[in-house]
Amino acid sequence: MGNILKYLYPARCPACREIMEDDSIFIHPGCRGKFSIITEPRCFKCGRTLQEEDGDICPECRKKHHSYEYGLSLFKYNETAQAAMIDYKSNGIRRNGDFFAEEAVRVLGRLLKRINPEVLIPVPISEQRLHERGFNQSEYLAKAIGDALGLPVDSDVLFRKKGKKDQKKLSGSERMKNTADCFWTVDDMPYKRICMVDDVYTTGSTIDGCAKILKAHGAREVGFLVIFAGEMI
Ligand SMILES: [Zn+2]
Ligand SMILES: [Zn+2]
Repeated sequence: MGNILKYLYPARCPACREIMEDDSIFIHPGCRGKFSIITEPRCFKCGRTLQEEDGDICPECRKKHHSYEYGLSLFKYNETAQAAMIDYKSNGIRRNGDFFAEEAVRVLGRLLKRINPEVLIPVPISEQRLHERGFNQSEYLAKAIGDALGLPVDSDVLFRKKGKKDQKKLSGSERMKNTADCFWTVDDMPYKRICMVDDVYTTGSTIDGCAKILKAHGAREVGFLVIFAGEMI
């Protein structure tokens, strides 16, 4: 059975999409550079690379006063990243998610262990999205990362309300408003130190929305780990 599946759905490189002759590795060694790892020093809030004059926090995060404490971001959201994310999220290629998770653990795992959150919580998607997509891409990543690092994952304490407008069509300030009341959580939040897991970070409004509601229900420290940090819009 395994061989038939392999024949029907051969493993492909997340960068060039060619079939992997050696499918014991996730990516062609020569294609690794197409994903651009965010280099240190990184902004402690959003995880993007800092300029020398910035200090610990980038100018954007200084302006914004995010509701969360820290952020870890793995790759820049370049063209390769966008295509690989569409393959993962919309075309259901889980192997890309396995690759993202493995890289997140390799590059950011030690730092995350040092921060030592009690739990990883994936950013929830709406029921409708879940139905269309068949899986929550962030939950899949959280589980793979949690397994590798020995951190528990809980997908049953934070939820997304349905019927909110598509973020992409909204301006920055509309986005903030839209997201602030996008989520709901259980009344007896059992965690104080939480690391959210998501696929892409752009303005931070999603993580801020999650952090606000988690903190209103008893969480004290909320941060995030994402695979891609996009440019500010
Ligand atoms: Zn390749
Ligand atoms: Zn920042």
